[in-house]
Amino acid sequence: MTLSVTSAFDSGNIRLVSQQDDRLELEIVKDHQSDFYQWFHFKLVGGAGREVELAITNAGGAAYVDGWPGYEALMSIDREEWTRVKSTSYEDGTLTIRLVPDTDCVYLAYFVPYSMERHLDLVATVAALPDVDYRSLGKTIDGQDLDYFQMGEGDLVVWMYARQHPGESQAEWWMEGMLEKLTDPDDPVSRKLLSECTFHIVPNMNPDGSKRGHLRTNAVGTNLNREWDNPTEEKSPEVLYVRNRMDETGVDFAMDVHGDEAIPANFLAGFEGIPSFDEKQYDLFKQFSSLLVANCPDFQEEKGYEVSKPGEANLSMSTTQLAERFGAVSMTLEMPFKDNDDLPDPIYGWSTERCKYLAHGCLNALAQLVPDLKARKKG
Ligand code: ZN
Repeated sequence: MTLSVTSAFDSGNIRLVSQQDDRLELEIVKDHQSDFYQWFHFKLVGGAGREVELAITNAGGAAYVDGWPGYEALMSIDREEWTRVKSTSYEDGTLTIRLVPDTDCVYLAYFVPYSMERHLDLVATVAALPDVDYRSLGKTIDGQDLDYFQMGEGDLVVWMYARQHPGESQAEWWMEGMLEKLTDPDDPVSRKLLSECTFHIVPNMNPDGSKRGHLRTNAVGTNLNREWDNPTEEKSPEVLYVRNRMDETGVDFAMDVHGDEAIPANFLAGFEGIPSFDEKQYDLFKQFSSLLVANCPDFQEEKGYEVSKPGEANLSMSTTQLAERFGAVSMTLEMPFKDNDDLPDPIYGWSTERCKYLAHGCLNALAQLVPDLKARKKG
């Protein structure tokens, strides 16, 4: 049988460039109307028992080249269990994945995919719960719903939203874990949280980019996390809908969930450098970070992004925009594509289950921060 690849499915992305026996040269396709690319997801057909070499020859031009050294691709034969391909290597701008597939039908991906079908299942399941309000905040450019939940009875306004960057699928695995815990009627932490807070949740900010197999942008090539100061119906309706809803509800605490290509750790980014920088507001962010360290050994504070200098925050990003606009204790949570190097797992690397445990840790930390958030709100 001749080897072949296909990506003509939900969140698929790859292009076959050339083929010589069991070596395929491949390219990742750019996001539509954009130069960003790094997400790949494809099916390899006909490779059972053969030594296959998959060479992604345009890896060196990807959005984050620092994402490739130390990276191991993910492989699955049942689309449920995804394991790391140990013989993944990066050299001279090419990412090479060598494997001997068990079957004639194996899947490879940059991270464990979170399909739009699974998203629809998650939304339907949560929307059916008695104490959850579900609505669509509007239609995306491709005509999908921007799904949104409201739940809880408390005064504190909490927003959680994920996957502005669609290739960061770990963000929606985090969401699934967060929603499982928050809607568990027996979980005492969640019951308390729901009595003290009202949650506003957007599990996937970028359904069009997710379905199209994009790394970083929506259907018309817009990076949604650079639109929060001036979202438009034409370029960034997803942000416009969510920000309009936030203007109605206000925001006290917010988490924007992402994945980071290069850094092998979980970390937070805050709102240093906003014009209205306030020590008390920032202390609560630092306090949440410390609580998360205590609640989740997969989280740490040493590795992360450089912080902005005073007055130099980029207000087109959601975390800084919400901190400035609402005085919110807002933050960006980043999870690795590689692994948490402080607590590595050689088989799975950073995995979907670990995304979910981190989400549980975040809710536990939030519950411990609630008294201080309430005190600040009262003034
Ligand atoms: Zn991101």
